[in-house]
Amino acid sequence: MVKRFDGREYNELRKINIKLNVIDNAKGSAIFSFGDTVALAAVYGPKPSKMSLDYEKAFLRVRYNMLTFSTPERKKPTPGRREIELSEVIKRALEPALLLEEIPGSIIDIYIEILNADAGTRTASINAASLALSLAGIPMKDLVIGLAVGKVGEKIVVDLNKEEEDYDSEKLKKDPEKSKYIEYYGEGRATDIPVAIIPSEKKFTLIQLDGEISNKELNDALNLALEKALEIKNLMKSNILKHLSSSGNFIY
Ligand code: ADP
Repeated sequence: MVKRFDGREYNELRKINIKLNVIDNAKGSAIFSFGDTVALAAVYGPKPSKMSLDYEKAFLRVRYNMLTFSTPERKKPTPGRREIELSEVIKRALEPALLLEEIPGSIIDIYIEILNADAGTRTASINAASLALSLAGIPMKDLVIGLAVGKVGEKIVVDLNKEEEDYDSEKLKKDPEKSKYIEYYGEGRATDIPVAIIPSEKKFTLIQLDGEISNKELNDALNLALEKALEIKNLMKSNILKHLSSSGNFIY
């Protein structure tokens, strides 16, 4: 039976890979991957900031960057409009989970590098940053979980890869090797919905939508996102606990 391009079920995430504290000089760091999409996040601080002394809470700065070799065609090294926008999007997705008022007058920097991109880089970045923030000891209500859901053709799926994001049944009809996938996905193009969730509150801190979708389909997609966010959170949490106990730190 035909399944998704890479053989997954509609509700199956790509393989998740997590590596913790990979950068010695950072307070906390992590690599998070969804299949071939690999994000590295490093947290520096909190450090005292003259700039933010007037504020009652810590100031968060996020820089998202895609490395030149992260895409099949060499990406320009200078940060573009997309990278500036995604830095802001990621910051806003993370901020509601951070207890920044507990560390007033300080500044926290998060540097994110995309090592390899196959769609879903902003959501993988959110997970890498969440892990790095928690390892850096930044006070948080919960981990923030990023993942994409969406509609490919007529099918609701989780964690779209680039081939799915670019889906177009009209184009596939002309491709003898790929036209069989129309049987699975149906007619049309793709609608990608990257989201970020605070699982303990079932709160969405990011919902972006690129394409068209009905209310009922959107509801189904967001429910699927809530379900899968818990799965990702449990995996992230167990990785943190394993890492802390093997490095001599204990959590009570
Ligand atoms: P996201 O990575 O969060 O899904 P986009 O929807 O903007 O964000 O990008 C989708 C995918 O398109 C990226 O993950 C990457 O695979 C590819 N892509 C984005 N920008 C570029 C670029 N400048 N050059 C090559 N590929 C890119």
